[in-house]
Amino acid sequence: MVAEEAIAPVSPEVEALLGAIDRFRQRPRTHREPQQLAADLKCIRHGQDLLELEFADTAARFSKTEEYEEQGSVSPIDWIRHNCRMSSSAVWGSVAVGDHLAELPHSVEAVESGEIGYAHLALMARTAVALQGSSTAAPFEETELLEKAREFSVGRLWHFCHHLRHALDPEGFTAEQNRATQERSLKLSPCEDGTLLLEGWLDNLGGAALRSALEPLAQPRGDHDERGREHRNADALVEILTHAQDAGGLPQRPHLQVTASLDTLRGLVGSPAGDMEYALPVSADTVQRLACDGTITRVVLGPESVVIDVGRARRVVAGAMRRALAARDGHCRWPHCDRPASWSDAHHVIHWSNGGDTDLSNMVLLCHRHHWMAHEGGWQLVQTAEGEVLTVPPRPPGLARAADVDDPVEAARRFAQQLTPAASPSPLAEGRVGADP
Ligand SMILES: [Zn+2]
Ligand SMILES: [Zn+2]
Repeated sequence: MVAEEAIAPVSPEVEALLGAIDRFRQRPRTHREPQQLAADLKCIRHGQDLLELEFADTAARFSKTEEYEEQGSVSPIDWIRHNCRMSSSAVWGSVAVGDHLAELPHSVEAVESGEIGYAHLALMARTAVALQGSSTAAPFEETELLEKAREFSVGRLWHFCHHLRHALDPEGFTAEQNRATQERSLKLSPCEDGTLLLEGWLDNLGGAALRSALEPLAQPRGDHDERGREHRNADALVEILTHAQDAGGLPQRPHLQVTASLDTLRGLVGSPAGDMEYALPVSADTVQRLACDGTITRVVLGPESVVIDVGRARRVVAGAMRRALAARDGHCRWPHCDRPASWSDAHHVIHWSNGGDTDLSNMVLLCHRHHWMAHEGGWQLVQTAEGEVLTVPPRPPGLARAADVDDPVEAARRFAQQLTPAASPSPLAEGRVGADP
């Protein structure tokens, strides 16, 4: 369709083209066999590729004129972006191709004959732009790239273009990567409710480091993991940071300090929240989890706000006890979770602040995610005489608290059987039933 704002009438050839497209689109919609669909698909794409060539040529010609200024835009790119309803990067891509049609004659022919796609050509043009924009590059030459384009998928050619650029212009390639490294940024914006908004930019290498660190930790874990990809990424990031602090792997990091009253630590109703550095007050459940086995520094206040325990910057469960627990459990004990012992916490089935013993019979290894589910998430853990760990979701119908019934193991088994894949941990569930009595 012709844009309403266009001042000059569209040329008769373009009008004829649009007419042909209209007629094509108004054809009778008959059933097409899959093989027919496949053949049509290839040809429609080819037609689009040919039109892309025309668009690129026209866009490049337009960008050499002052017409954008006449029509009140700040640049030709901006005019095209706005009037042709495209993203800036797509406009840049088209103009780059249009500008380099003359230097890529054989590649243009290859698009016309359907040997390569327009997407191949766009990559080649981008490579030409990068090389020509660098004073240290060897001259751009299409032959080698075209050979690869005939052979490679678009994704593989994209990869190859980087290698080619490095080969023809090592200095420029390094300079560009260095620029990206200098432009790394991470903006932390604390929100009113204590949450933190992250906005950032990482260079090639930094991005790879982050992704390779997150990837193994961001996989779905154990039973009942319904977190989405982005949720799992965020959890993985927090887990890495927590682990680095626990393991003392950071150069000069004192541990997180939390200050809480004894009542809070015991989870008594009416007790205040816990205080933590860099955070708004945290819930009693969180205080309990952090104190369960963290290396956080605890400052526990008695009834008169008298400091009764300045905690240590070491694990509650340490040394031989910790090694024995790691040897016994080997990994997180949540059903079907295999996060290794070094990435897990020692969870007190009965919290030590409520008189639970710090001995093997009262402890199980839980990874950070599942430790969270056992405290804040409201899941209950029930251990059988054989040491098997059963998980009961928050607010199970008919069961207030596994610890309150005559046979918690039987009750937990019943709920484990009832569990459908739809059961999910709900941190917001009202009337939460804690794992600790
Ligand atoms: Zn715990
Ligand atoms: Zn786990």
